[in-house]
Amino acid sequence: MPIEYDDLDRIAGTDRPREIPPFCTACGYNLTGLPSNRCPECGQMFIKVEWQKKVEKLKLIAEELREANWWARAGFFVGIAAVICAGVAVLLRGSWSSVFLAVAGAVLGLCAAFLGLGVFRVPRPPKWGGELLPARDYPSALASLIFGAAVIAGVIWSW
Ligand SMILES: [Zn+2]
Repeated sequence: MPIEYDDLDRIAGTDRPREIPPFCTACGYNLTGLPSNRCPECGQMFIKVEWQKKVEKLKLIAEELREANWWARAGFFVGIAAVICAGVAVLLRGSWSSVFLAVAGAVLGLCAAFLGLGVFRVPRPPKWGGELLPARDYPSALASLIFGAAVIAGVIWSW
C-alpha cells in the first residue's frame, strides 16, 4: 500500500508555510514518493496515527516559536524605549524627572530582556522538523537582551 498524501498538512499561518511530508516516526527519514510504507532507513512501518501525533507536537512548537518571535520583536521596541528613557534621564541628571525616567528605563529594560529570552526557551524541534518551523528570531531576541541589559547596567552604574 503506498503512502497516502491526503493528509499532507500545513503549519498554519507561518512565515514559511510548508507541507509536512510523511516521515518515519522512528528515525525521521522522509518517506515521500516511496512505493512501500516501510522505512528503507530503519525498517519501521509507517503508522499514520503516530505520524499525525508527531505533526501535532511539531505544530505546538511552531505556535510557541511564532509567539516567542513576536514577543522578541516587541521586546526590541521596548528595549529602544528603555534606551530613550535612560538617555533622557542622563540629560536631566539631578532633577526628579531624571530619577523617574531612570527607574522607568530600568523597568522597561528588564521587560525587554525578559521578552528576548523567550526565543531561547522554545524547545528544540526533532531534527526532521527543524526545516518546517519558522526561523528563530535571534536578531530581535539578542537586541532585546542587549538593550535591556545595557540599560539596567547603566542605571545601576550611574546610581
Ligand atoms: Zn526509519
